[in-house]
Amino acid sequence: MVEMTFYGGVGEVGGNMFLLRDRDTRVILDFGMNYATRRNFYSWPALQPRDERGLLDFGLIPNLTGVYQYEESEPSIDAVFLTHSHGDHSGYVSLIKRSIPVYCGETTSLIMKALDATGRRTFEKDLRGIEWRTFRTGERLEIDGVVILPVHVDHSVPGAYGFIIHTSEGTIVYTGDFRTHGTKPMLTEDFVRRAAEESPEAVICEGTNIMQARVSSEKDVEVELDSVVASTPKIVLASFGHNDIDRLRTFYNVAKKNDRYLVISLKQAYLLRELQKDQRLDVPDVTGDRFIILDEEKRKNRWEREEIQKYGNTKTIAEISRIQDKIIYIMSQFDLNDLVEIRPEAGSVYIYSSSEPFTEEGEIDFERLKNWLACYGLPLYQIHASGHVMPHQLAEVIRRVKPKKLVPVHTEYPETFKKYFGKNVNVELPTKNQTMKLI
Ligand SMILES: [Zn+2]
Ligand SMILES: [Zn+2]
Repeated sequence: MVEMTFYGGVGEVGGNMFLLRDRDTRVILDFGMNYATRRNFYSWPALQPRDERGLLDFGLIPNLTGVYQYEESEPSIDAVFLTHSHGDHSGYVSLIKRSIPVYCGETTSLIMKALDATGRRTFEKDLRGIEWRTFRTGERLEIDGVVILPVHVDHSVPGAYGFIIHTSEGTIVYTGDFRTHGTKPMLTEDFVRRAAEESPEAVICEGTNIMQARVSSEKDVEVELDSVVASTPKIVLASFGHNDIDRLRTFYNVAKKNDRYLVISLKQAYLLRELQKDQRLDVPDVTGDRFIILDEEKRKNRWEREEIQKYGNTKTIAEISRIQDKIIYIMSQFDLNDLVEIRPEAGSVYIYSSSEPFTEEGEIDFERLKNWLACYGLPLYQIHASGHVMPHQLAEVIRRVKPKKLVPVHTEYPETFKKYFGKNVNVELPTKNQTMKLI
């Protein structure tokens, strides 16, 4: 019997964590943080957990023995496999016993190490000592009789994979997060083709967009962005996912076309320089003359002082403020104070280039953003392409792969997922913290 226990990512987008059991082999697929639930109990920066006890009490992590480093017992699992570096899939890796190997793509480990080196360390975010085992697409990884084949997929972060898993009783597939409309649809095509060849018994499948789909590709984003930037006389401010390299490249292309500089933070520059080590990723050169690295005079810690020396293309906010017609300024929602110093001139705009908020907290953040923008006279444009597959594209994938059982995860609407696929597909809904027989 092959079983799976779903500790997170059930009826929710966030916190994917699935324990796969085949005979004596135990592997956890993804080790994510559930941001939405976490926000119900904690808020940055004033109210943070001091140790794992709060996380356990609030059900933010499952109560497992032999998995976490804070307790002494022998490891009870053989390995953890991460599909990609987004926090809802990898955010709690910090808690894992250091004797348990963590398998992930090479790019995923580069991104996670860069975030670890440039972020603030807490017990929830401290990757020191982790036993990384990195893979590339198509490698065959054997864990005590179970063979896991990672195959690349297109997603809104580079280095994302789905897994084809050969168990003692048949093949199961876990899609991770994926899309077919990004810049590299051929990666997903490789995954779907390989999965279809295996006639899998079960497919554990993401369904983020099943209820709210907006068809827009990365190319569409570039065209819309270009039209806004081309007719904006002053500064263009923008925000998007820190790890979304496709989106960064899109902004870079538009900056080039409109003879503007792309201003990024030192933390973003650090990540891009790390990713430049992998030539296959085609990351724009941050030391090149199209970029300006933001030189913040205050609060410089050690890595920042070392990193800033590596760039000849740095400027302060005051300097940037004087050349507003030449700038696309990439900021996060936490950098809104920069607006006070930039003082955007009339005719400036703000481009919100990520998904709409889908939690109450996210909506409050979004309202706050709008308050700031309204005060500075900045119209807000939303220009975005989703990192997740659209329902009609997903239906096509399932039609080709033909799983005997389809298990929706990473969606708030598993029932809708079931009804959408109808009677032709055997959809089985997981329950949080419950075990399902897969084969
Ligand atoms: Zn993701
Ligand atoms: Zn996800």
